[in-house]
Amino acid sequence: MKVIDHINQAKKPLFSFEILPPLKGESLNDMLEGISPLMDFNPPFIDVTYHREEYIYKKHSTGLLEKVSTRKRPGTVGICAALMNRFKVDAVPHILCGGFTKEDTENVLIDLNFIGVENVLALRGDAPKSDGRFIPDENGHNYTNELVSQIVGMNNGKYLHEETETGFQTDFCVGVAGYPEKHFEAPSFKFDLKNLKAKVDAGAEYIVTQMFFDNQKYFEFVKNVRAAGITVPIIPGLKPITTLKQMTVLPSIFFLDMPDALMDELEKCKTNADVRQVGIEWSIQQSKELIEFGVPCLHYYTMSKASTVHKVASQVF
Ligand code: FAD
Repeated sequence: MKVIDHINQAKKPLFSFEILPPLKGESLNDMLEGISPLMDFNPPFIDVTYHREEYIYKKHSTGLLEKVSTRKRPGTVGICAALMNRFKVDAVPHILCGGFTKEDTENVLIDLNFIGVENVLALRGDAPKSDGRFIPDENGHNYTNELVSQIVGMNNGKYLHEETETGFQTDFCVGVAGYPEKHFEAPSFKFDLKNLKAKVDAGAEYIVTQMFFDNQKYFEFVKNVRAAGITVPIIPGLKPITTLKQMTVLPSIFFLDMPDALMDELEKCKTNADVRQVGIEWSIQQSKELIEFGVPCLHYYTMSKASTVHKVASQVF
């Protein structure tokens, strides 16, 4: 079933979450066992991230450095099949512009359609660390609105090459990302909103936000998004803090503010167990306030570790 139908038919706020494919060589079964406690809260859908290639330099005996590309976390499509089969939930694979030609995208969407996936979250992806800035594939998309158009085109039976047009249509519900604290590359919030609108105008049916720790940012974002004429559901993304390191790492990776009240609580912590407790309590408060505000769904970033999100959800759902 499509995410948008889950939302429209829900009688109360939904619980959903995001997982990462295991690192290459790690077990899929361990990951599925790890997240199974979260099935207690009946998630109608689970997101699975996609990871583009990263570049490493391999030194040859001659001293020559060779740039090789490697994918550390393959398996998004296979995990979607495993999730649907094992937990009878809908899987939402993430689909990227970066590292994909349009042909690669078409092929992966065909695979997803064949295994019964009905949803995708369309994203641009970030630059590999070695590139510094996002460089699209020569035959790929620059921005997510273009990727959304390709997916919607396939829903209408439009394929890249005339000769492969057979009238066969996919039927994906497409979600996109939104940034309550602005995407870091956007020169202004207004510019970012205009680009968000382009993604929705291209056919995206809902928005999932980047994580935030200050609900006011989400409330303000919703107000501005609505004022811009965007009417689709906006699902807040939440991450409970679990380590002291995240206090500095999360703002620098995701370009977000930590509220003073949260920082004050975290600074009092002596151990990671204390930090985790503060993170859980903060996330419970955030979740309850967001439900009161009327959000359609709460979406948790689990990093494939269930126990913290389980503690939060057991107080909220
Ligand atoms: P876009 O919407 O394309 O926007 C990127 C930037 O370009 C913005 O600054 C925007 O304002 C600007 N822009 C957009 N369109 C135009 C245009 N037409 N002209 C000029 N400027 C434009 N990354 C992964 O690699 N894998 C994942 O699985 C993944 N999952 C994510 C899930 C969520 C919920 C979120 C919020 C992010 C996720 N990311 C993931 C990270 C994401 O790929 C990055 O944040 C990326 O930098 C932006 O992606 P986007 O789809 O928002 O890009």
